[in-house]
Amino acid sequence: MDERTEISALGEFGLINHLTQNNETKNASTIVSVGDDAAVIDHFGRQTVISTDLLLEGIHFDLSYTPLKHLGYKSIIVNLSDIYAMNAIPTQVLMSIGFSNRVSLEALDDFYAGVYAACEEHGVDLVGGDTSTSQKGLVISVTAIGEVAPDRFVKRNGAQPNDLICVSGELGGAFLGLTLLEREKKIFETTGAQPDLEGQSYIVGRLLKPEARKDIIEYFAEADLKPSSMMDISDGLSSDIMHICKESNTGCVLYEDKLPLNEDAKAFAYQLLLDPTACALSGGEDYELLFTVSQADYEKVKNNPSVSVIGYITDVTEGKHLITRAGNKHALVAQGWNHIK
Ligand code: ADP
Ligand code: MG
Repeated sequence: MDERTEISALGEFGLINHLTQNNETKNASTIVSVGDDAAVIDHFGRQTVISTDLLLEGIHFDLSYTPLKHLGYKSIIVNLSDIYAMNAIPTQVLMSIGFSNRVSLEALDDFYAGVYAACEEHGVDLVGGDTSTSQKGLVISVTAIGEVAPDRFVKRNGAQPNDLICVSGELGGAFLGLTLLEREKKIFETTGAQPDLEGQSYIVGRLLKPEARKDIIEYFAEADLKPSSMMDISDGLSSDIMHICKESNTGCVLYEDKLPLNEDAKAFAYQLLLDPTACALSGGEDYELLFTVSQADYEKVKNNPSVSVIGYITDVTEGKHLITRAGNKHALVAQGWNHIK
């Protein structure tokens, strides 16, 4: 049987010490880290970007199919994704947790193994947090801090008519992964049958182990490219492009045949009689970057194999549309777009 240590055996300070005993600082901007009343960060003349997210058991994650190490990793990644979406580089995070006595020290160690793995991968320092018990359910709150050269940050409101709409990576996989795990959970609950995830590592990985697109932000710096607007895709492409259009006061045209879809994801969508395009448009949690660039920057985006140009920005009076493979034009709707059967 797995070892189980009650957290009460350590006490709060013992626990914090245990969780942060090997925590090392990687960034010169981290002046004071864990152990005082607050962390001290000095960004040496660069601008600071800061963002926070709350993750609640039963709302944002289901522990019956989410390994704690993955959860720790993902809770950092989704916050770093918000920092990258501002064209900034994340440097510090704060991690606050609330847990019931159902959670053992070994479980928290797994969770923190994921937290530290994400911090390591992205060169980020864990500089603090808070620790509490909760009556029920695991509560996770992460704050991420990043830096950007003065006025190089990118907001949602800068898209201009004729700008190209671009997206990194592939869309819809995380939603299909969630659909699969929810289905297998129901089967397990009703029949006791073990989950069948054979051949589905891509979509399951997209849900449980998302990646934040640091490489794209590094590419922007390298190529001296500043997008006119940007955000990360957490709710789904159609609802997220609508945020850019609303903030920028523009319309848009997306092309169905340009949407980047993964072959494994497509195959699973067909198996479920779902439209892969609808999954790409409405499925959330892909944590890819959605951004616009002026047409003059086309060559620069074309040179990055992880970037797809999926449409263009229009005047606000032209509305927001999807052009299907057959050449039909449909209004985009926030929940995604329903295939005309
Ligand atoms: P305070 O009483 O000022 O809130 P705490 O005793 O909660 O301080 O925290 C002591 C130190 O440990 C602080 O630097 C805090 O940021 C850090 N810390 C607390 N909980 C966590 C955690 N879960 N993960 C990382 N650092 C933490
Ligand atoms: Mg505290």
